[in-house]
Amino acid sequence: MDNRRIYHKDEILQVEITDIADGGEGIGRVDGYTLFVKDAVIGDTVRAKIMKAGKSYAFARLVQIVSPSDYRVPPRCPVAKQCGGCQIQELSYEKQLQYKQEKVKNDLIRIGGFSPEMIERIMEPIVGMDDPWRFRNKAQMPVGCSGKDSKAPTAGFYAGRTHSIIPVSDCLTGAQGNSAVVRAVLTYMKENNVPAYDEQSGRGIVRHILIRTGFSSGQVMVCIVANAARLPGCEELIELLRAVPGMTSISININKEKTNVILGRTTKTLWGSDTIKDSLRILSEDFTCSGRSVDFRISPRSFYQVNPGQTEKLYSLALQYAGLDGTQTVWDIYCGIGTISLFLAGSARHVFGVEIIPEAVEDARSNAVLNNIANVTFETGKAEEVLPAYIQRVKETPDVVVVDPPRKGCDEKCLQAILQVRPQKIVYISCDPATLSRDLKTLVSGGYQLQRVRPVDQFGHTVHVETVVLLTHKD
Ligand code: SAH
Repeated sequence: MDNRRIYHKDEILQVEITDIADGGEGIGRVDGYTLFVKDAVIGDTVRAKIMKAGKSYAFARLVQIVSPSDYRVPPRCPVAKQCGGCQIQELSYEKQLQYKQEKVKNDLIRIGGFSPEMIERIMEPIVGMDDPWRFRNKAQMPVGCSGKDSKAPTAGFYAGRTHSIIPVSDCLTGAQGNSAVVRAVLTYMKENNVPAYDEQSGRGIVRHILIRTGFSSGQVMVCIVANAARLPGCEELIELLRAVPGMTSISININKEKTNVILGRTTKTLWGSDTIKDSLRILSEDFTCSGRSVDFRISPRSFYQVNPGQTEKLYSLALQYAGLDGTQTVWDIYCGIGTISLFLAGSARHVFGVEIIPEAVEDARSNAVLNNIANVTFETGKAEEVLPAYIQRVKETPDVVVVDPPRKGCDEKCLQAILQVRPQKIVYISCDPATLSRDLKTLVSGGYQLQRVRPVDQFGHTVHVETVVLLTHKD
């Protein structure tokens, strides 16, 4: 029945790139056959060599750009291609935003089953970054040896999907001060003959450099992850790091396990404070001015939003969508360190947060104390288990439910618990438009109407996109 031509490995095809895949590859089609071409962007016409051929699709390598896309820009970062961090740095930022807006729209229509007219009518324009560079407040750089025969330490990033280190001291999406920290650590290692950790043999000492910067406070934290309980000659390390502007906390984390997990269980402060401070502002509707702000204390282990500038916008939008006037009871499901709970608390009667990771809940509770917020309570556990029990125990039902689940979306039992308590409003914050669309389908068939949708770009140059959605009950 199918007389389509069969494609083979090493064949070279010319193709126009029309879309972006979830992994960031350019997508092009030749007579219905789909090619995924890494490093090709929407609008390019390219020649690509098939590396792995399937029946209906293939992964191909870019051989030549026959005619470049109008949206193609030179990558700012010299290792944009090798490094796994940014997938679409060669697409102009405006086009990246347009792609993300379309992606959310298409998923809502295709997976959520909403009509294109309705989505067109209610969808608000994506909130982009004012400057899509230097936005990440956290860097975790692996440390290794520069070559097979060289013992000289190097730090950088893993090449996409591998464990070989590309030496880069400065990631352009990270904080400006990171390169000075990396230089200081490498200098210390060379001068004191402190070896980098070798994944293969399990020998050596320095595994990772973890750097966090409080963008509002200017405070910098460095944590050296080591395959040892102490760092030889660590006074010199401290001396060198103290010269970095904003240095507030220097610590060692001990990780002697042969594992991919970065942090070990024990952290010891070597110099300065155990934590750094940061705060997130609650912004007005047009994001120009702020009223209150919420303070956070961050330890090397803490979970904390990685792009604080866009987080302020995302959570301020969620607060606006919730439309609180001080009288409502709110649930914040998948609450992490309670960022949203604390954003909402000032406008709510009570906020109840649920989170699976005990350390995050501890952070949420101490952040509440730090901000003198008393009308929030948190419970540790799986949302799908905590909520049914909570409904039995506490008879009060919420007026507004906020969910901010991981990429796999909400558990079915969690959605059923929400439908059971029938809040007036549901605010859904999502980092995956596909699972968002799937869950919205369930909520809509449970009696809710989609009112507002707005994508927010938290991670420029990647294919990720966040979305805030407001649903209201039909009655
Ligand atoms: N709003 C949070 C971040 C949410 S990210 C903040 O500002 O910190 C999603 C969170 O859901 C993570 O903290 C993750 O640990 C948590 N999580 C994952 N599965 C869960 C489950 N089944 N029940 C409750 N929380 C869960």
